Amino acid sequence: MKTTGQNRLIYLLLVALLVANFSFVYADSAVAQPLEQGGHNYGTANRFETGFDHLNVHINYPQTDYDNLNVAISGWIRSTIEQYKTAGNGAGALFVDYDANLVAEKYISVKLFARYKDETGRVSDSQVNFNLYRDSSKLLSINDLFNDAQLVDLKARLAYASGIEARYFETNSLDCWQLTDRAFELDLLADDYSPLIKEDFHFTLPYGNLFDLAAITERLNQHPSTWLATSDIVNLKSDKKIALTFDDGPGPYTERLLDILQKHGARATFFVVGKRVGGRQETVARMPKQYCEVANHTWSHPALTKISNARVESELKATSDAILAATGSGAAMSRAPYGALNGRVKALTYQLGYYFISWSIDPKDWLTKNADKTYNHVINRVSDGQIILLHDIHKQSVDAAERLIPKLIEQGYELVTVSELLGQGGVVPQGGKVYNKR
Ligand code: ZN
Repeated sequence: MKTTGQNRLIYLLLVALLVANFSFVYADSAVAQPLEQGGHNYGTANRFETGFDHLNVHINYPQTDYDNLNVAISGWIRSTIEQYKTAGNGAGALFVDYDANLVAEKYISVKLFARYKDETGRVSDSQVNFNLYRDSSKLLSINDLFNDAQLVDLKARLAYASGIEARYFETNSLDCWQLTDRAFELDLLADDYSPLIKEDFHFTLPYGNLFDLAAITERLNQHPSTWLATSDIVNLKSDKKIALTFDDGPGPYTERLLDILQKHGARATFFVVGKRVGGRQETVARMPKQYCEVANHTWSHPALTKISNARVESELKATSDAILAATGSGAAMSRAPYGALNGRVKALTYQLGYYFISWSIDPKDWLTKNADKTYNHVINRVSDGQIILLHDIHKQSVDAAERLIPKLIEQGYELVTVSELLGQGGVVPQGGKVYNKR
């Protein structure tokens, strides 16, 4: 840790650097909108504004009682200014604001965010987080909070929530996290995870009323299954919910099915075959726009148990990539063709971060190709929490869905996606696992 004297020196150097480079920069009222996202709840709020040839700078930052934290903050601000001093050709503006909180008396959590606007008004955002444990003045890394097994679990949860495959978290940093009064919160920045996500993704992991990190870790070690209290992550409603799933498409009837779903405000999950996505990209792109879920049913529909590990990986990866190209996010959620899985495939897909959704109601619509039989099979068995298997490549199945959807709604069911159904039951899918109902 730096001494107070060294810290002051660094601040003086920072100020001197800014003043020495100062030159007049016109105020562009369109550009000079301050960032007002920050909660200045801890530390002394400081502000400075200055300018360089091509950069107008507006900085809000906290001064804290911890020298190492102050050094980290000023270092990031300085490197951010340096980064944008040479950016663009005309005049740009850089705004920095922050969120600083004292958490449960024990932690200080600081999030700094920078927004740079170039001369055309184009915006680029960046962020850094610092979390300090006051007893030891230690700046914490994510490894101070979670052990290896917990990190694997955390990444599986992140993959589930964000739609980004878990393996990307091995190579991309998970640095943007903070502690709040009730949760561990993590941001996946669109810039870091481009093109997997188009917007920053915010993840919240509530930890209840335990605030001491050692106690959290202790508790997590002893009771991993109680890590997430269901009541913390979702508003459990008493409504009945079911998930309609459609496999093997997209096909010639998928648009009609989407029209039906849209008409009734219903959602469904589509397990698409990768090689069919390219020809119907707009249909697949439409699915998330009306809050349907797009999931992975392999590239060419082989029994995964009968192909090599390399091929299992490429079947899932190529399909996720096709979904990514169509919708902007890939799909870890998968369904094995024929439901065929074995220990080898589960172990492999655990490594790769894919998980599997089975079903609890199967009318064998692909076999009977009879809308009445499909309709009756489902209506006679449906209950809260079920996952229903259908195939949108058959006209008779879409005919059945056209009658089923309003009937189920009339019976009080909300038609949700598989992720919604599992999430509302407190289930967090993990790589290599199979889920067949809530
Ligand atoms: Zn299939």
